[in-house]
Order: sequence, then structure tokens, then C-alpha cells
Amino acid sequence: MITRNKKTELIKPSDAASWVSCRRRAWLKMHKAADYETDGFTKLLFEAGLRHEREVLRELQNEYAVHRAKSFEHTENLMQEGAPVIYQAQLVNHDLGLVGSPDFLIRHDSGQYQPADAKLTQKENAKALQIQLSLYRRLLGNDLPVIVFLGSNRTALFGDETDELVDTFLEDMRYLRDLQEQPDARYSHSKCRNCPYFEHCRPQFEEQEDVSLLHGVHKRTAEQLFVLGINSIAQLAAQEPETLPDVQHLSGIKRKHRAVLQARAFLYDDVYQLNNRIVLPEGTWIHFDIEDNPLTPTRDRHIYLWGMLLPPYSRDDFDYVWTDHEEEDFYGWLAFLEKIELYRIKFSSVILAHYSNHEKASIKKYAQRYNMLEHSTVQWLLGDSSPMFDMQKVVQDSLVLPLQSYGLKDICKHPKLVNFQWENKESGSQWSVVQFNRFLSEADWTEKQRLKVEILSYNRDDVTATRQLELWIRNRFMSVNN
Ligand code: SF4
Repeated sequence: MITRNKKTELIKPSDAASWVSCRRRAWLKMHKAADYETDGFTKLLFEAGLRHEREVLRELQNEYAVHRAKSFEHTENLMQEGAPVIYQAQLVNHDLGLVGSPDFLIRHDSGQYQPADAKLTQKENAKALQIQLSLYRRLLGNDLPVIVFLGSNRTALFGDETDELVDTFLEDMRYLRDLQEQPDARYSHSKCRNCPYFEHCRPQFEEQEDVSLLHGVHKRTAEQLFVLGINSIAQLAAQEPETLPDVQHLSGIKRKHRAVLQARAFLYDDVYQLNNRIVLPEGTWIHFDIEDNPLTPTRDRHIYLWGMLLPPYSRDDFDYVWTDHEEEDFYGWLAFLEKIELYRIKFSSVILAHYSNHEKASIKKYAQRYNMLEHSTVQWLLGDSSPMFDMQKVVQDSLVLPLQSYGLKDICKHPKLVNFQWENKESGSQWSVVQFNRFLSEADWTEKQRLKVEILSYNRDDVTATRQLELWIRNRFMSVNN
């Protein structure tokens, strides 16, 4: 049993993010300190959030007298004095068991205060955001809607429509606060791998051989399989797909077949090919991968690197378009389109191979951003005879692998699969965003170039990885067909 820390008696609006993600995480946050070091990407997001908050502060200062609150009492005094805007307000309500600190309290014409927060996100429909901000209304106890200053320079309002959600959150948080043992939980790859309590939960999942550890097996599916008496990976692996009853997210023979094979792949560290024959398009393969920065001042993603690996696929065959700043974004895009046209002339039947839909979706976004959907190269890239080929789709449609996630790095780094290792072991997509932002803020030219070389090397490894994946698929699953 874990003893509750007295400081956690009060519920905070910021608890909403943990609660929405996982009830056990919300419980652990109240009862157990996490031994967790914030990673570079999270720090970068935090700093970007602070910058946005300061921008909103500056705009408010242009219009109103803004007073910074120093304590709960000071906030109260400022409200009684009728301060037009209170920055970093501190609010507590012991009857509700709530404490919170909205970025701003803005005095309304009625004399009441309206809570407001600056949030980097461009969308206001996230559940956690709605709960967090609506709790400030509860703390103030008036009917005025809460304002959110979004990263897209838009504002949104939340009023009574979020009451039911907030009531559910508060009721469950009070229940969790008084609960002596941690609540049951299932593994979720997207949530658990970045959770500060992963090392706490992982041994239990592994010991129980929880079926939710399997790729594609949802929490609900695991719970319903448990009711049917299938509560371990070994038990699922022993099933015949034809006799497995329908459960949520697991109906139809194809899905059942896949789930049973996924359990066997996990258990025996093996690879299974599904019934379909793997077909790869014929032509000159060019491997393609982009790096983008979501933390731009305009909040439009800036693709700063369009990387390509050309035949004969040695390290020297890496080609790319790089732009230093968001202001050069359009020129980077045009340079990419020019390169594509050159490849089209130079090579016969170009195949632009990439991993996941991100590259194709980004090309479409750029074409829309610059009103170029009718451009002939764009039409070729996105049209019916598009050269773009998503390798992730082939992998997911045809193979069952001993993995929890079918990301490029998961497949390529696995020693029994592609076994391709990136030169920089730390590198990854979030790592590259951090490095690029360091590049942007770096004043020293030599250090700037070092960072650029590091990012280029990472991208070259990414496109080399898709080339190695292509070879692995050809050699292991297509050699009879070729
Ligand atoms: S590791 Fe997973 S199950 Fe455990 S608290 Fe975190 S999100 Fe919840």
C-alpha cells in the first residue's frame, strides 16, 4: 500500500491530463512520486508554451493594467480592488478540494472575473484541456465562460457545456484520492511508453503476460477476452481463430487470425506472413523522408529537410533540400518539387518510397498552403499514378512481427528483423525537432554547422533504413517470386 502525500489532498486542473490518459496514472500522481527526468522535447514544448503565454501577456498589457499575483491572498486582494487583469492568479477552494492557477483573470463588465489560459495547441476540443480550463470556472464560482488563447491566434470559450465532464472528473478523482490500492490498468503502447510510471507498471504487465501488450489489442478487447477466460498471451496464442468469439475490436476472421498470430509472434519471437502475396512496385526506387518543425512562430509545420536516397544507395547517394528558417519554407518546397522533376527525367519509373502516410499528407498540406494543387508535379505526386509508395502499409497488411509497435525504428533496429542501427543511438523524430530548435537559436556558426551535420546524418540513416527494409522484404519474403 502507498501512503498519500498530504500535499496531494487538493485536486489540480493540471491533473486532468493524467486522468484522461489513464486512471492509474492519475492515482499514482496523487500517491507516489515519479522518478522521472523531463526529456528534451518536453522541455522544448514547455518553453514554447511559455513564449506563447508571454506573447498573450504582452497583448493584454497593451490594453489593460496587468497585475501579477504573488499568493492566494494577494489574488483575492487584487480581485477586491478590481484589478483589470491578474496574471498568474492563485485560487483555492477547500470545500471543493480544488486548487489552481489560471494564467489570467480578466475583469468582466459585470465586475466578475473571467479565467483565461494561454495554450499552444491549435484545437480546443481535447478533453483534458476542456476539463482543466473549466475547473477554473469552478474555482471562481461564476457563470462566465473561460477563455483559451490558442496557439493559432484564435480564442475559444468553454461554458456550461463542459459541466457534465467536469463533474465526472471530480467525482472520480475524489474516489481515486481515497482509494488505497492502485486501480487496474491495461497496457497502451501510445500512452505507457512516455509515462513517468512505466517502470512501475511494466513488471506487472510482463509478469501477467497481459494481452494488451500485443500490437493492435485494445484495452476493451483485453478486458472482454479476460471475461472469456483468455487472460494471457500464451492463452491467446493457443486459440484457433475460427472458434474465438467476437469481442470489441476483434470480430471477423481476419482480425482474429492476426491477433492469434500476434500472440504467437510475441511468444516465440517469430515472424508470420499473412496469406496475401507481397507485391512491391517496379521502377527506380528513391527512398524519401522529411523532418519538420512543429514549433514555429506561425504554428505551421516547417519542413526544414526533404531527404532522399538515390540509386545505388551508398552514403554518398543521399540528396536533400534544407532550409534554415520558416521564412524560407516556400523556397524549400519549390526546390523539392524541382528535384522531383529532375529525378523524373533522370530515372525511369520513379518510386518514391516512404514509411507511414506522413510524407504524402505533408505534400498535400504544402500544396494547399501555397495554393499549388494544380501544379503538374504535385498532381503527379498525389494523383492516381502517384510514384509515392508507403512501405508501412505493406508491412502492416502482410506481416505479423514480434513487436509492440510497427514504427520504422522498431522494425529496423530489431536484431532478428532488418537489424539496421542508426549511427546516433539517441536520435529519433522528437530528437531531430530538439536539435533543429537548438540550430535555430545557436549563434556560434561552427556549432550551428555541427548540429546541421548531425540532423542530416540522422535523416540519411532514416532513408537508408527504408532501403534496408525494402531489401529485407525482398530477400526474406519475395525471393521465390523474383
Ligand atoms: S504506465 Fe501505462 S498503465 Fe501505468 S500509469 Fe502509465 S499510462 Fe497508466
